[in-house]
Amino acid sequence: MENCIFCKIVRGEIPSRKVYEDDLVYAFHDINPVAPVHFMLIPKEHVDSMAHLQDKHAAVMGHIMVLAHRLARQAGSAEGFRTIVNTGRIGRQDVMHLHVHVIGGDAVLPPMLVRV
Ligand code: AMP
Ligand code: ZN
Repeated sequence: MENCIFCKIVRGEIPSRKVYEDDLVYAFHDINPVAPVHFMLIPKEHVDSMAHLQDKHAAVMGHIMVLAHRLARQAGSAEGFRTIVNTGRIGRQDVMHLHVHVIGGDAVLPPMLVRV
């Protein structure tokens, strides 16, 4: 997608700190990390959000889930991590290109959410 910031990262038009890349997936460190390990996995094909997934995306989304643990371990989060996918306005999604956050490190993370 022409003006999507994450599509520009995939195309190399905006710099990123790459964690992993293959034909389907690109992974890169978050520019504003909330923990010692914080990177994102994205499908190279533009998909706005989790609410826009179709059956044809099942393979790439499964691939992302399988990669998450391997990459988290390699990045220094050997004993677990948290995956977050923010979706739409309610989910406070800022960048409208589907991304799976992987967050971790050595320390136990804080509780998942404050009660709403
Ligand atoms: P979300 O709120 O789930 O849409 O998260 C978007 C994430 O993208 C935030 O954690 C940002 O810090 C991150 N982000 C935005 N621009 C960039 C960029 N150019 N490179 C790396 N991460 C970015
Ligand atoms: Zn995009």
